[in-house]
Amino acid sequence: MESQPEVLLERVFGHHAFRGAQGEIVRHVAAGHDALVLMPTGGGKSLCYQLPALLREGTAIVVSPLIALMQDQVEALRQLGVRAACLNSSLEAMEAQEVERQLVAGGLDLLYVAPERLLTPRFLSLLDRSRLALFAIDEAHCVSQWGHDFRPEYRELTVLHERWPQVPRIALTATADPPTQREIAERLQLQDARRFVTSFDRPNIRYTVVHKDDARRQLLDFLAGHRGQAGIVYCLSRRKVEEFAQFLAAHGIDALPYHAGMDAATRAANQRRFLRGDGVVMVATIAFGMGIDKPDVRFVAHLDLPKSIEGYYQETGRAGRDGEPSEAWMCYGLGDLVLLRQMIEQSEAGPERKRLEHRKLDALVGYCETMRCRRQVLLGSFGEAHPGACGNCDNCLSPPESWDGTEAARKALSCVYRTGQRFGAAHLIDVLRGGRTTRIQQFGHDRLSVYGIGADLDAREWRGVFRQLVASGLLDVDAEGHGGLRLTAASRPVLRGEQPVPLRKLPNRRERGRSAART
Ligand code: ADP
Ligand code: ZN
Repeated sequence: MESQPEVLLERVFGHHAFRGAQGEIVRHVAAGHDALVLMPTGGGKSLCYQLPALLREGTAIVVSPLIALMQDQVEALRQLGVRAACLNSSLEAMEAQEVERQLVAGGLDLLYVAPERLLTPRFLSLLDRSRLALFAIDEAHCVSQWGHDFRPEYRELTVLHERWPQVPRIALTATADPPTQREIAERLQLQDARRFVTSFDRPNIRYTVVHKDDARRQLLDFLAGHRGQAGIVYCLSRRKVEEFAQFLAAHGIDALPYHAGMDAATRAANQRRFLRGDGVVMVATIAFGMGIDKPDVRFVAHLDLPKSIEGYYQETGRAGRDGEPSEAWMCYGLGDLVLLRQMIEQSEAGPERKRLEHRKLDALVGYCETMRCRRQVLLGSFGEAHPGACGNCDNCLSPPESWDGTEAARKALSCVYRTGQRFGAAHLIDVLRGGRTTRIQQFGHDRLSVYGIGADLDAREWRGVFRQLVASGLLDVDAEGHGGLRLTAASRPVLRGEQPVPLRKLPNRRERGRSAART
């Protein structure tokens, strides 16, 4: 038999060589051993189970959380002449029966199945009557309760190991922070599986964070450098997705919306256009993207703050799978931070979970505000060392300057204190700059000692000050209430003038919104 991995790699998939650890993983699983594979998005995880599926007798059962993802994979495999099928709720009863018949008859190389389907007694007994090559558990981080894609059914997948101990299992994920890694191994009983950890660095992706000032204009400026290219613009809410898709379309950009509230047909049509078309910009919530295999996505833009670094890294990882230069661009402001804090605080989650989510958000804000190499911060959060100065992030390309913000910080904190620690940055800035709003009159804030003491900075500069004060814990957000800013224990030494406050200088207006150094 000519079932050498390399031969099949070339003949079936048309690839000339394995990428990174792929070859090793394929051999390991094909030989019947368990594996836990951590590889960044675009690293080539699918091959790690698809090839062993062909090398081993029987059918590989692939557990996958998303129907759209399964269908794409199955379609792609069939085009390569692989006998693949999927079982999910979108199939007619007749079609499903036919797939089941093929499975038992040994007519399938790979069968993709949703976890809830797999766990049904009916399907499990079907597996008893089938010859099994291996189990692949894709998006294995869904087992983690603390992750962003938690799927309770993933917890029950241990049944596979208990019922078919001799069938090798391979779990795969692009989420790599060490606690999630440990949780996957524990929850899926893969403690003894060999771990394959690939570097998560994506050197072709350039990271840039700009501070939100006028998001629409900043986005247009950014997109001006990516004319005709495919990319994704992530927004937090469905309403904003619609709004920005229309806005971009009105500016002559081929933009389409995508979110879970749209009807399935439109959503599928938009996804198809994105995958096939040239240069479609998908404006989407994070419902879009998992399993999207489009190699030439040139940029991923975030108009809102993601919830964690892992989420951010996975989303930006959809750019540049072909290895060509690509951009991860984020536009973030204090409002985002306030909103997310409120969402966490006002959610149904228990106190422990809320604390964890606040911590994850802290880490992400730390990334946004850092003056260090962004790649170093990102990889560091996954436990991966990087020397820094990557030369391909905004901080490396144009090192940020700092200024002595001690006086400004004192004024800002005094203003928070004098106005009663219940207002948001917009009003506080009006007070500091001596504005004449009805609110100021209503509250008599024009009679305060802090009224007008900050006329030396413009509103944009003050927003930068407040944002950094919140990010560094010198102010905190009343997230249970209306999101007003409050002093913290750390504010006192600053108010008393005992502690200097270095702040990051804002870039010149000219550079705003642009990526760091475009040529
Ligand atoms: P992941 O699931 O890790 O995000 P995929 O399995 O979807 O990544 O692979 C990403 C892209 O890389 C796909 O377009 C795939 O065809 C390609 N690819 C995978 N392995 C190889 C290889 N050995 N040589 C060339 N291209 C590869
Ligand atoms: Zn860098």
